Amino acid sequence: MMEGTLCSRCKRRKAIIEIRYLNERLCRECFVSFFEKRVRRTIRRYELLDPKDVVAVALSGGKDSMVLLHILKKLSKKAPRSKLFAIIIDEGIGGPRRKGIEGAMSFCDDLGIEYHLYTFKEELGLDINGIMERASKLKNPMPACSYCGVFRRQLLNQKARELGATKLATGHNLDDECQTALMNFIRGDVSRIARAGAVVGVIKDPLFVPKIKPLRESPEEEIQVYAELSSLPVLGSACPYAGDAFRKQMREILSRLERRYPGTRYQLLGSVDNLIPLLSMREEGEKPRLCEVCGEITSGEECKSCAMRRELGLRPADL
Ligand code: SF4
Ligand code: ZN
Repeated sequence: MMEGTLCSRCKRRKAIIEIRYLNERLCRECFVSFFEKRVRRTIRRYELLDPKDVVAVALSGGKDSMVLLHILKKLSKKAPRSKLFAIIIDEGIGGPRRKGIEGAMSFCDDLGIEYHLYTFKEELGLDINGIMERASKLKNPMPACSYCGVFRRQLLNQKARELGATKLATGHNLDDECQTALMNFIRGDVSRIARAGAVVGVIKDPLFVPKIKPLRESPEEEIQVYAELSSLPVLGSACPYAGDAFRKQMREILSRLERRYPGTRYQLLGSVDNLIPLLSMREEGEKPRLCEVCGEITSGEECKSCAMRRELGLRPADL
């Protein structure tokens, strides 16, 4: 279908990608510039970065975080006072996931970016397989992704803080944001919708490092194409644990909708952004607090991660 089609923008070069929600076909050069411009616009629009920020990038070795690091590195050349480094968490899943982590480390070396690697095994006392073994003895064990996601989030916040980061950048993309929004709508989780958005953590507290999502307006399939065109060493980060089944359903629903009604994802993201200020006002009285043990956001005294550590008999988080 793209064969022989010329780029809608430069009208000279061969188009390599169709952007259906814009009804445009772009060549390699115009796509790369369109993609990077949109990330810069996201950063500007939501005021994600300050020229003096110390930015920690949560790097998994998957395409999203590798693209994020690549672009932030490019941008950092224009903001010499900013500092950028990566935090890599190895959950101990092994196999292809381990290859992703090795890819992430050598990518940092290639870019000349300092990175810090932490493992579940060292930080929690058990890797994810050990955690699942322990969880299987509980009365109501949770799926691997619940433990994995919660522990990773806690470690990222803790390490970013210890390393002096003023922002923690994550690779959440447009699809992740829309899936999360739908899940929260269906579950009626108003507090979580109120806490969504380009910056997570309006709480000013030295224990909490605000999280920013510069790729939240970038569709997943375009991140993939950008990673390939930029020859980023994305080795895949497949995980033998099944992943979140509910999220997978949301993903299917959203791709069906997007195919049929291009632009649906942006509309959904726009709706969430419009709702956030209204919901935050409603939530005003019950502002999220920070966990007394580790500094993560929590609605009670203890955060989910610290509660899970306790249930599983793991060592408590250090402050
Ligand atoms: Fe962790 Fe689940 Fe992701 Fe595997 S799929 S790395 S268990 S969150
Ligand atoms: Zn905690």
